[in-house]
Amino acid sequence: MEFPIRSLRIINRLLRKPFGFSAYRCVSNTAVKEEATSELLTSFNQDIKSGGAVPVFRRALLFPSRVALQDDFGTYTYAALYEAATALSKDIAAQLSGETEYTISYMCSNDASHIVVQWAIWMTGNIAVPLTPLHPAEMLKYYITDSGSKLIICLQDYEKILRPVSEELAKPLLVVYRPKDGTDDQGKGGQGIDGQGIDSQSNDDELKEILRRMKLGKDDQMKDFSISDVGPSNIWYGGTEAMLIYTSGTTSKPKGVVWTHRMLSTQISSLHAAWQYCAQDVVLHTLPLHHIHGQLNSLNASLAAGARIRMLPSFVSHSVWARLLGTGEREDARVSVWHGVPAMYARLAADYDKMFADKKTRDYVRATLSARMRLMCAGSAALPESLFKKWEEISGMRLLERYGMSECGMALSNPYRPVEGRTLGCVGLPLPGVSARLAAATDNGLDPLVTVESPDPDTQISVDRLGLTSNKESYEGTWKTSVAEHKLSKDGVFEGELLLKGPAVFSRYWNRAPQLESPDFTDDEWFRTGDTASFSDNKFKILGRTSIDIIKTGGYKVSALQVESAILEHPSVADAAVLGIDDDNYGEIIATVVVLKEKASLTLKELKDDAGKRLAPYQLPKTMLIVDQMPRNAMGKLDKKVIKQQFGDKLVMKKK
Ligand code: AMP
Repeated sequence: MEFPIRSLRIINRLLRKPFGFSAYRCVSNTAVKEEATSELLTSFNQDIKSGGAVPVFRRALLFPSRVALQDDFGTYTYAALYEAATALSKDIAAQLSGETEYTISYMCSNDASHIVVQWAIWMTGNIAVPLTPLHPAEMLKYYITDSGSKLIICLQDYEKILRPVSEELAKPLLVVYRPKDGTDDQGKGGQGIDGQGIDSQSNDDELKEILRRMKLGKDDQMKDFSISDVGPSNIWYGGTEAMLIYTSGTTSKPKGVVWTHRMLSTQISSLHAAWQYCAQDVVLHTLPLHHIHGQLNSLNASLAAGARIRMLPSFVSHSVWARLLGTGEREDARVSVWHGVPAMYARLAADYDKMFADKKTRDYVRATLSARMRLMCAGSAALPESLFKKWEEISGMRLLERYGMSECGMALSNPYRPVEGRTLGCVGLPLPGVSARLAAATDNGLDPLVTVESPDPDTQISVDRLGLTSNKESYEGTWKTSVAEHKLSKDGVFEGELLLKGPAVFSRYWNRAPQLESPDFTDDEWFRTGDTASFSDNKFKILGRTSIDIIKTGGYKVSALQVESAILEHPSVADAAVLGIDDDNYGEIIATVVVLKEKASLTLKELKDDAGKRLAPYQLPKTMLIVDQMPRNAMGKLDKKVIKQQFGDKLVMKKK
């Protein structure tokens, strides 16, 4: 069944209903505006106290004239994105006859279109399921079917991918367009179009007018808009679902993690408190948006703070270097925060060695980064120690490593302050709203070893803390953890499976058994992460996925992540993965696949001699395979399933 856009518009006009326009209204007169903002804030905070959640798009009403986003096509205020989303939400509502709580799959580029579509879905009270063009058609079909999506939305650029999928699955497809804006885009969208935002039909006068108004003038003068509140009440959002984030499915089929608006708000408050987000931040966004790292840390937590996002279509090392150094950028658009995965930092560091050869340039790079960057975070995979040190040398900044998952957003983090508290190889303590526990597997189930609690974050919105007023209030003291209980430990080190609990942690997968029957949760409702971790000296350390990274060899348990980190210290090694290979004598033996730096050579003996300075003999690899390229997924994580499939046989042969 196909719903051409023209008929959608007609359906829209026939069915258009007013949906929840409320008393909130942002107006341009300054005095009236301040009063209205303060009233709005008070009502938001009352709603939160009564169990509601303020969806991210609605926070835009607090700072409509601030710049929300700069992408490769233009610069947009919060009001502009909000207006475009409002227009699109009418099409969506019409398509679904005003029904709410349906899942809607959507595919956009990393630009304003993603925010507009996501907000429009939320404005209609439906659930956003972000898709990526990086996935093949079969996977897209799986996500659309598993999520039971009622509608598919895509940017014009991806119609070729999604039209056949929508026809096969008999799902309506809504295509959104970038405006032509007087230039001939030849129907391609993307590069070279001087247009902003999206248009659900490029010839439509109503939307053209919105897009014209979205566009900032050459002098980038802020425009004030009169925008009205759209969508159900905050109380309603407090009890409903916002989005599904599919897990990467390394061990089983990807599962849709249900993110409620409340969980999203809790995570946002937690990150705001722990990492001190503020409206003055300029956040560089280079992460995929079908993953929680890009959705939460870089996108939604930034938008909820009234910050400015500089979004790139994807991670390209040279463009990221240019943005980090602020090349050709206006003062107020210079990047101050970046969230990256270790593979991105590794690539930047490798290009740094090639691009910035002389001391003067290196001094400039270091001085610029340390003066401009407020925060540089790393996570989603282990940050090797050599990279942590190298980045500090390059930038003068200590990376803040954190641990997170699709199921719990961000869970553990090194401290924001003091900077010296950010410890090599560790992921710190539970973030506000998360309790973390290590448990040992016994014949009778899981035996708790140590539990560390962090109180719930303050979910009230504070414009003072966000730096939106002249009374900048500090977040200091808003994040405190305590060890709730622990077993006795001889050397003060606990090691076991990492369990998580709290309002910032999810409670169910979409389309799967309810929580208490699920093997993903313990009987007392702790989420089993599937990661093994240790706790000592008041810090957690991630040892890896229990199923694949904990190698059982000759009676020892070895963390593949620790061995990888040690191997990466070798000057000839550019990339490394460590695997366990089945062995009759040892159970498993440690094997490594490495990529060498240009013109470098390496023997297993040389590697062992070097890594032996940092590892015990039983932790050293027994076989090594040198390859040209390491399989990594869209998030830059080592794809161990593929690595094993591609190289496992060769490693077994080398062993003999
Ligand atoms: P995903 O749900 O795709 O974000 O993957 C979550 C998994 O990434 C976790 O279960 C960990 O195995 C891994 N991970 C995330 N952050 C870290 C980190 N800082 N160190 C080591 N592994 C990490």
